[in-house]
Amino acid sequence: MTIAFIGLGNMGAPMAHNLLKAGQSIVVFDLNKAAVDELVKAGATAATSPRDAAGKADQAVITMLPAGAHVKAVYEGDDGVLAGVAPGVPLVDSSTIDLLTARHVIETAGAQGNPMADAPVSGGTGGAQAGTLTFMVGADGNLFETLRPILQHMGKNIVHCGGAGTGQIAKMCNNMLLAIQMAGVSEAMALGVKLGMDPKVLAGIINTSSGRCWSSDTYNPWPGVMENVPAARGYTGGFGTALMLKDLGLATEAAKQAGQPVMMGGAAHQLYQWFAANGHSGEDFSAIVKLYSQQD
Ligand code: NAD
Repeated sequence: MTIAFIGLGNMGAPMAHNLLKAGQSIVVFDLNKAAVDELVKAGATAATSPRDAAGKADQAVITMLPAGAHVKAVYEGDDGVLAGVAPGVPLVDSSTIDLLTARHVIETAGAQGNPMADAPVSGGTGGAQAGTLTFMVGADGNLFETLRPILQHMGKNIVHCGGAGTGQIAKMCNNMLLAIQMAGVSEAMALGVKLGMDPKVLAGIINTSSGRCWSSDTYNPWPGVMENVPAARGYTGGFGTALMLKDLGLATEAAKQAGQPVMMGGAAHQLYQWFAANGHSGEDFSAIVKLYSQQD
C-alpha cells in the first residue's frame, strides 16, 4: 500500500519522515527538489508531479501546502492530484487554508469519486518532528475511520470535528482566540509592570486566578517570567507572527462571509498586521508584547 505526500516544507517533511519510520511506503512531490531528495534518501520514491504522485498512491494522498491557492493548484491543475488519482482513494489536506477553497476542493474531489477530508494540525514543527500533532479532521465518519490509523503515525490526538470543512473551522477559531489571549496577557502584564508590580509575581497571581490561560501559564510573553519559551530566547522559534497573521486573516475573512462579528478577533488581526508590517513578522507571535512594553 502506498501513500502520496505532497508539500515537504517545515511541517510536511518531518510528517513524511514519520510515515517512513512507521514502515509506510510513500511517494513524494514538492517543487523544491532538495526537499524531495532528502525524503528519497530516507526511503521515499520521487514523483514528477502531483498527478504522478497521486497516480502511484492506492492508500491515500496527503498534502501539506502553504495556502488555499497552492491547494487549488495542486488538486485541480492539469498536472494535479485529481487528474491522476484512482477513484476511491481517500485524500487529506492538512494545510491551514480558507474555508471556501477547502470546501470547493473537497466537493470537486467527492464528485469524481474521491472522498476528501480537511485535517489541519496544531503542534508546530516540534510536534511534526515528534509525531505528536493534533489533527482536526473534517470528514464523514467512515472516511475519518479510514484515515485515523494513517494520521496516528504523525499525530497524538486525531479529533473528528464533524463534516467537511469543520477541521479548518476548529483551527481558525482556536488560533483567533489564542491571538486575542496573547494580546490580552501582554496588555495586563505591561499595565501591572508599569504600575510597579514584579512581573513574576503578577504572572503567578494570574496563573492561580481567573485570568489564567495558555498564553499566561505555558507561553508567557513577558521576558524573565518563564524559561524555555520564546520570550526567554529573544522571541525566536515557536509560532511565527507571519503564520498567526495568516490564520487571523482566515478567521476574519470567514467571519465576514458569514456575517458574524468578531470584534476582538478583528482587533487582534490589526495588531498583528501592524506588528508584521513593522519588521516583526519573523518573530514568535508572543513578541506582540513589545507593542506594550517598549522593548526593541
Ligand atoms: P512551508 O512553506 O515550509 O512548506 C510548504 C511546502 O509546499 C514547500 O516545501 C513548498 O515548496 C511546497 N509547495 C508549494 N507549492 C507547491 C506546489 N504547487 N506543488 C508542490 N509543492 C508545493 O510551510 P509549512 O510551515 O510546512 O506549513 C504548511 C501548512 O501548515 C501551512 O498551511 C501552515 O499554515 C500550516 N501550519 C504550519 C505550522 C508551523 O508551525 N509551521 C503549524 C501548524 C500549521
